[in-house]
Parts: sequence; C-alpha cells; structure tokens
Amino acid sequence: MESAAKTIQPSQIFSVAKTKAAENIFFKKYLKQFPSAQIDPMVHQLYAEFTAKIDCTACANCCSYLEPGIDEAEIERLATCQQLDPVDFKRAHVAFDGEALFLKAKPCMFLQEKKCGIYLDRPQACAAYPHLEQENFKYKRNVWSNYQVCPIVFEVIEKLKKSLGFQYEQKGI
Ligand code: SF4
Ligand code: SF4
Repeated sequence: MESAAKTIQPSQIFSVAKTKAAENIFFKKYLKQFPSAQIDPMVHQLYAEFTAKIDCTACANCCSYLEPGIDEAEIERLATCQQLDPVDFKRAHVAFDGEALFLKAKPCMFLQEKKCGIYLDRPQACAAYPHLEQENFKYKRNVWSNYQVCPIVFEVIEKLKKSLGFQYEQKGI
C-alpha cells in the first residue's frame, strides 16, 4: 500500500517558505504562460485534495498570525455573541488600516485551542480563507502571501509546480 505523503508542518512553514522565496518569484513568472482556464481548475482540484489531507484544527496558523477582515454587520453580530455593545466591541477589538476594518488581536480573540470559538458566526473573510476557490489564481496577491502561513496553500503551490513541469535551479554565488 502506498504510504501517505507528508505535508508541511504548520510550525515549519515560515522558515521553509523563506528558502523558497526566490523560486516562487520564478514560478509566478512561469505561470504567466498558462491561461487561467487551465490553471484555475487545477488549483481547485488541488485545494480539495489538500483540504482533505490537512487538519485545520491541528494548525490554526491563519487564526494565530493573520488579522481577518470584518464589516459592520459582522461587528454587530460578534458583539452580540459577546454580549457587548457593538461600539464598545469595535473600539476594543477592531482596527482600520485606511482601507478596511479587521480584527486586531493576534492570535484571534476567538481562537480556543486551535479551534474557532464562534465557527458558525465567523466573518466571511475567515470562511473564505485561504481563498483558493477564487478565479484567476495566478493574479491573486492575497493567495500568494498565504504561502508562508497556510499549509494548504503551500502544498497546492508546490504540487502545481510539479504538475506544470516547473524546475528551478538555484544559482551558486
Ligand atoms: S474568528 Fe474564528 S476563524 Fe476567524 S480568525 Fe478568529 S478564530 Fe479564526
Ligand atoms: S486554513 Fe490553512 S492556515 Fe488556516 S488552519 Fe487550515 S491549514 Fe492552517
């Protein structure tokens, strides 16, 4: 029986991703020759494959290191969950970066032992993470930035490299 291939450990992803930074610049350029109509179905299939293999409840990197976007309706909903006034909740837990509102605590204030304590009420930004179901994968900067955080994104991109015959040779100094 074929043994299951190992996937990157959540705790190792930051250091491994750093070593792949130059390679990924070349891969992004390499991807440009392929149409989104070819790439996107591959990404969607790989996303399904690695979502089944990687246990998010043993990871929680996204909830630990990112700040999810949130809108006014979600602020009101989460404040109600916490039995807080939405204005007080916003003042204490939400920040604005000039473009969007986001939950500012890292790790997220709702994270409980690697699980979301408000799973059914979580913001849309969390539900949609890691955004691999979007179209035009090769142009999505938010997805590429998740390579260093999310094991699913990391594995999808690594397998995509193999599937597309991408090869990278590091030049010596
Ligand atoms: S709201 Fe839940 S899913 Fe979203 S970052 Fe916080 S713990 Fe994670
Ligand atoms: S979505 Fe990615 S970063 Fe978040 S818990 Fe799952 S594997 Fe980890």
